[in-house]
Amino acid sequence: MKQTMKLEVFRCAACGTTLFPARYLCPACGGAQWTKPVVSSGTVRAATTVSHRVGAREPGAVHLASVQTDAGPVVIARFEAAARKGETVLLEVDEESRILAHPR
Ligand SMILES: [Zn+2]
Repeated sequence: MKQTMKLEVFRCAACGTTLFPARYLCPACGGAQWTKPVVSSGTVRAATTVSHRVGAREPGAVHLASVQTDAGPVVIARFEAAARKGETVLLEVDEESRILAHPR
């Protein structure tokens, strides 16, 4: 059975700048205190399909897209089928820390 987790982004406690992935210091204000709001959905900004890669463990095409999360930061997510630009998706993280997107 597949274990999944919620996707967390990183929000500066001082100024509210929201990032993914995490950085040590906030690029806007230099703060180092972060909260970790959960994001569960986003919108596809750009999609691509990577066909079979040499050395890949999983055969076949991999569908990837940059997804603007509802919290702001853009993440790269894996899709089970080709993503469509403008599509809204649900986001989660698998046991290998990959971000997965599912049609809403
Ligand atoms: Zn900040």
